Amino acid sequence: MKVAICNLGQIVSGDWHDPFVAGDTIVTDGGRIVSVGTAQVDDADVVIDAGGMTAIPGLIDSHVHVTFGDYTPRQRTVGYLESYLHGGVTTAISASEVHVPGRPRDPEGVKALAIAAQRCFADYRPGGMKVIAGSVILEPDLTAVDFKELVDKGVKLAKAGFGAVATSYDYAPLVADAKAAGLITTCHTGGSSIPGSGAITGDHLLKIRPHVSFHINGGPTAMPDADFARVILETDIALQVCTAGNLRTTLLCARLAQQHGAFDRFIIATDTPTGSGIMPLGMLYTIAHLSSLTEMPAEQFICAATGNNAKVYGLDSGFIAPGKAADIVLIDAPDGGTQHSALAAIKHGDIAAIGAVITAGIPRFVGRSRNTPATTRQARVVRSRVTQDFAAPAH
Ligand SMILES: [Zn+2]
Repeated sequence: MKVAICNLGQIVSGDWHDPFVAGDTIVTDGGRIVSVGTAQVDDADVVIDAGGMTAIPGLIDSHVHVTFGDYTPRQRTVGYLESYLHGGVTTAISASEVHVPGRPRDPEGVKALAIAAQRCFADYRPGGMKVIAGSVILEPDLTAVDFKELVDKGVKLAKAGFGAVATSYDYAPLVADAKAAGLITTCHTGGSSIPGSGAITGDHLLKIRPHVSFHINGGPTAMPDADFARVILETDIALQVCTAGNLRTTLLCARLAQQHGAFDRFIIATDTPTGSGIMPLGMLYTIAHLSSLTEMPAEQFICAATGNNAKVYGLDSGFIAPGKAADIVLIDAPDGGTQHSALAAIKHGDIAAIGAVITAGIPRFVGRSRNTPATTRQARVVRSRVTQDFAAPAH
C-alpha cells in the first residue's frame, strides 16, 4: 500500500543535529518511507491531507513494562499498548518481563521467559504498535554460553537490576558477558524497587558499564546529583530519563548532557506501567516538561524520544527519511490553547495533540486520538482506494 501525507506544515526529522526536513509531503510504500519533501501523490492508494500539521517520527518508548499480550498485571488493565499508540508511541521496548506474575528466577527460567516474550511479540502488533520484547533478567548463574544461546535465538536485550546478586557490583561480569555475546545491556538506576537490594548509583554504573542507564533520573528515586556528571563524562552509557521518575533530575540530566556534548545519548521513555500507573501520554508529557522548563527547543526533545532511542537500540525507525520504517505521527497545537503550532505549544508546556498515527505504512487512525486533546487543524483522508476509512473507533 502506497500512502502519501501531504500539506504538512513542518517535518521533524528525528535527528537533533539537523531537526527539520524541508517540504510538505511524505510518501510511504510497503512499510517504508520512500520520499520526504515534495512529491506527486497521484498514484498513492491513500492520500492524507495533514491540513498544515507537523509530522514527527513515531515516538519510541524505550522503557515499557511489557508482559504477555496487551495486558499489564501491575495495573490489571488490558489494551494499554493500544492506548499508548493513541499517545503517539509506535514502538515500545520492553524493560524486561519482570512483571509477569510468579516470574522465574533460575537461569533456564529467565532464558525461557525472554525467548517466549520475544517470540510472542515478533509479529503481534497491538493497535499497530511494534513491541520489542524479550529482555533477559540477569541472574548470577547465567554464563557466556547462555547469552550466546539467547542471541542465537533472537533475544536482543538484557536487564540488570532485579537479580539475586549479593551486591549490585556483581552485575559487572554478567553485563560484560552479555555485551560480548551481542546483547544490548540495560541497568536499573537509583533507589531500589526491590526491598533490601540497595540503590544503584553512579559508582555502580561506572563499574557495571551497561549500554543504557534505565531511568537515570530515578525510578522513582534519583541517585546523588553529583553522579550525573560522572556518568556523562566518564562513560558512554546512554542516559534514559523517564516520566515516572524525578522531574528535577530529568532537567538536570538534559542540561548536563547538552553542556558536555552528550546529547546523542540522551533518550526519553516512560517507565510504565508501574506503580505510577498507565501513562498513554507519558512521552508527550516528558517532551513538554523538558521543552518548557529548559532553554532547548521542542524539536530537540522530540528527537531524543525518536532518533536517539533508535540509534541506541539499533532500530530501523525513529527518523523521517527514505528507507526508514514508515512510523509517522501527525501532531498539532491542542484545540483551546494559546499557541498556533505543535512545537510552539510544546515549548509553552502544553502537550501536543495527535491527528494521525501511521505504523509500518498503515494509517492506524486519522482524525481524533482517543487520548490527547483535539487538534487545532484537521487531518483528513482525501482519497482511499482501500476499503477502510481509518477513523478512530467512537468513544
Ligand atoms: Zn522500570
